Amino acid sequence: MGVLVFRCPASGETINSGVHTDERSLAKVRSLSVKLYCPVCQTMHLMRAGDGQVDAPAVPPPPSPLAPVHP
Ligand SMILES: [Zn+2]
Repeated sequence: MGVLVFRCPASGETINSGVHTDERSLAKVRSLSVKLYCPVCQTMHLMRAGDGQVDAPAVPPPPSPLAPVHP
């Protein structure tokens, strides 16, 4: 499971749809048209569900660059 995200066709920014789904469920609704509010353009974009992608499930954050380094 992950969050379905889209890429804004105008700005290229990632838009979080807030919908939790997985690749298998997404595959069933690829041709579905979805209207999504884009906070970047501050308007609705009409997209296909198949244009979105499932964001990877929670992954551990990368090591902090501020962590002390021991030689
Ligand atoms: Zn947009």
